[in-house]
Amino acid sequence: MDGSSTCLGAVEYYLQQIREKSDLNAYVRVYEEEARIMASQLDEKRLSGKKTGKLHGVIISIKDVLCYKDHRVTAASKILDNFHSIYNATAVQRLIDEEAIIIGHTNCDEFAMGSSSENSFYGPVLNEIDHERVPGGSSGGSAVAVQAGLCMVSLGTDTGGSVRQPADFCGIVGFKPSYGTISRYGVIAYASSFDQIGIFARNVPDVETLLEVIGGPDGFDGTANPAPLPPAAENFTQNRKLRIAWFNQALASPALDPEIRDGLFRLIGQLKTQGHEVKGIDFEYLDYVVPAYYVLTTAEASSNLARYDGIRYGFRNVDKNQDLADLYNNTRSKGFGKEVKRRIMLGTFVLSAGYYDAYFTKAQQVRKLLVDKTNLIFSDFDVLIFPTVPSTAFRIGEKMTDPVAMYMADIFTVFSNLTGLPAISIPLFWHNNGLPYGVQIMTNRFSELSLLSLSSHWMQQFRETR
Ligand code: GLN
Repeated sequence: MDGSSTCLGAVEYYLQQIREKSDLNAYVRVYEEEARIMASQLDEKRLSGKKTGKLHGVIISIKDVLCYKDHRVTAASKILDNFHSIYNATAVQRLIDEEAIIIGHTNCDEFAMGSSSENSFYGPVLNEIDHERVPGGSSGGSAVAVQAGLCMVSLGTDTGGSVRQPADFCGIVGFKPSYGTISRYGVIAYASSFDQIGIFARNVPDVETLLEVIGGPDGFDGTANPAPLPPAAENFTQNRKLRIAWFNQALASPALDPEIRDGLFRLIGQLKTQGHEVKGIDFEYLDYVVPAYYVLTTAEASSNLARYDGIRYGFRNVDKNQDLADLYNNTRSKGFGKEVKRRIMLGTFVLSAGYYDAYFTKAQQVRKLLVDKTNLIFSDFDVLIFPTVPSTAFRIGEKMTDPVAMYMADIFTVFSNLTGLPAISIPLFWHNNGLPYGVQIMTNRFSELSLLSLSSHWMQQFRETR
């Protein structure tokens, strides 16, 4: 035994990498001793000839919004400082049951609100390719942990793009399943009707392996799909003739970097050459997706975050409280960061009497319309392709003073969260500025095994070299 092929050897290797690249700020907590102990136990078990789990020795990191029993979990917020989870998220429990080694919690935007991982109580995460650029967000720490080789795979959450967008900015694979595929039990809620756990990896088969373990029905989450996922359809596994659509309005969007548009058209050309039917279709609702997303998610967030009152969880302001209301006010004023407060206020506003119908009800109607239109599209097509993000990774600080510009960058990712579709970003391209970018692929609800199978083919066939 030379150590390199043991779980313990692997743990030591990753711990070393994490130490060497600590300036990236990808992790908020590293469970060094525990990972070593777990690895030694796994090595012992394997050497004694016992049957091993499906993820035996897989070294994984989890976003700081996933509950891990007897460990701190803070959603990168001061308000949850020192909060310890008393139970495991279902996904975390399933990882442990299959003998994965959880090496640490990763950094992110506070309460998963953001697109750059700059809104963290622990400071920003850096993109390994260019330390002056953001890795994307909100699951930026998870993306960088995989990008920089600080773990094998990572779990994030995706409410409006927080797995796919950082994967795109970091040149890796980021997958968000259909709403309901992975249990949300033990995920610190941002917007419950949008939130899904997503997976970061370097290749698609790793995503699939993880999904098989953590996905599926769960009695602890009433919104989890009670049926197991259908197997991949044969035309997808064989990459046979598929009907593929893109939205004319997306590729014509003035916000889209022309080189990213060119990359998408190169892919479209290659798909046509392979015999697929690939067509641009009109979708007049693209301008409404970002507003609808921000009305609905802030409304849900204002309700979900009402529980952080300084009494039940984490941080409590102790001085200069005149009365209970004052304690709540002071705790929330000091505990939440700027972006989170902005969203709580916006959400409270859109739900308030007099504005409810104009904003919240309207946005719900838009959501319903998007779902109906999407169902129609999937009666004619098998696959939808999009850019993942309109630009490559931007500079740290570049969008911090302009929240609307930051929100608009979510234009291509929020669509699948509004409609519940599975979506993936795979890294196919390199921009002239030296940064990677991906393509986003979506299929019909609960057809993620088809989506993954197809993505794996496309990544092998169409990945361009730097
Ligand atoms: N960037 C989006 C937002 O700020 C998405 C966040 C997410 O998916 N958690 O809301």
